[in-house]
Amino acid sequence: MSRVYNFSAGPAVLPVDVLKQAAEDMLDYKGCGMSVMEMSHRSQMFQNIIDEAEQDLRDLMNIPDNYKVLFLQGGASQQFSAVPMNLVKNGVADYIITGVWAKKAYQEAQKYLKANAIASSADKGFSYIPDCSDLPISEDADYVYVCYNNTIYGTKFPEVPNTKGKILVADMSSCILSEPVNVEDFGVIYFGVQKNVGPAGVVVAIIREDLIRDDVPAYTPTMLKWKTQADAGSMYNTPPCYTIYICGLVFKWIKQLGGLEAMKAINEKKAKILYDFLDQSKLFKGTVEKESRSLMNVPFVTGDAELDKKFVAESKAAGLENLKGHRSVGGMRASIYNAMPIEGVEALVAFMKDFEERYGK
Ligand SMILES: *Cc1c(COP(=O)(O)O)cnc(C)c1O
Repeated sequence: MSRVYNFSAGPAVLPVDVLKQAAEDMLDYKGCGMSVMEMSHRSQMFQNIIDEAEQDLRDLMNIPDNYKVLFLQGGASQQFSAVPMNLVKNGVADYIITGVWAKKAYQEAQKYLKANAIASSADKGFSYIPDCSDLPISEDADYVYVCYNNTIYGTKFPEVPNTKGKILVADMSSCILSEPVNVEDFGVIYFGVQKNVGPAGVVVAIIREDLIRDDVPAYTPTMLKWKTQADAGSMYNTPPCYTIYICGLVFKWIKQLGGLEAMKAINEKKAKILYDFLDQSKLFKGTVEKESRSLMNVPFVTGDAELDKKFVAESKAAGLENLKGHRSVGGMRASIYNAMPIEGVEALVAFMKDFEERYGK
């Protein structure tokens, strides 16, 4: 068996210890004679799995008691519609456009309310996060929406935007659990798990209780109404049991590493190795303004599309997989999520040095 260093943006690398545990549990989970994939979601065995996963996430993120944790389906993209449907009251919401995912959420929301783009970094190819200290927040905004870490462009909000008292909703798909956040700064945090937590199939929503309402628009599908899922303990219908189980193992893995402060220290160390190299390289260049850099997704270019292509091909042959940048931006992107070992980043930088020696002018 040999494993590559997988820099995929998602679905992405998982911790080896978690995969080993899953393999060990595969045929006979805790002596019940079947796998987690085969058991009833109404069994006590599975109830324990989902309860423990929720509790471990609450412990890791310090989630206050007045927030619900929901394990949902449809991916992060489904929440682009669920958010406006569940939060609309005045019929106005403010969006900060920092990339593809924020824009998609903004466009989807326009179907259900008047969505305003109150700030954008499109003018410089989404290479920075706009100043969010004094935004033109709408008087009657039902919420303000951000994509906290921009997976494609490699930017992250350096601080929580000032919403002037309005509810803040954040898509944290690609930075969740990479460092501590203060949950109380947000009304809603949600994340598709396939970036930094588990296999595809679950989106977790952490929602302040008072935002889980019965009086949503009549057109809201039963399945998209947060209250349906909150009342049913995320089991209104069959949940993606196996994905929830793997997420639970990942939560335990982070806990055992020392929680989110420890995770942040590891992530900063990893990211520094790569950014420090980019900052002094004569061939490679990071594409993001320093203050807005993501700890998780690191896009870079050589400035020569042919050379970028060569880099992607040669790095793959060297066991460094999925370094091709998103199809909308080109170049390269290294996603260095929680489960990417530091050795993976060191191997990448060693390869980049060698490549620079061979092709740099
Ligand atoms: C990947 C991603 C999405 C889309 O996730 P799906 O689960 O495929 O719908 C949305 N937002 C962010 C920030 C992402 O990285």
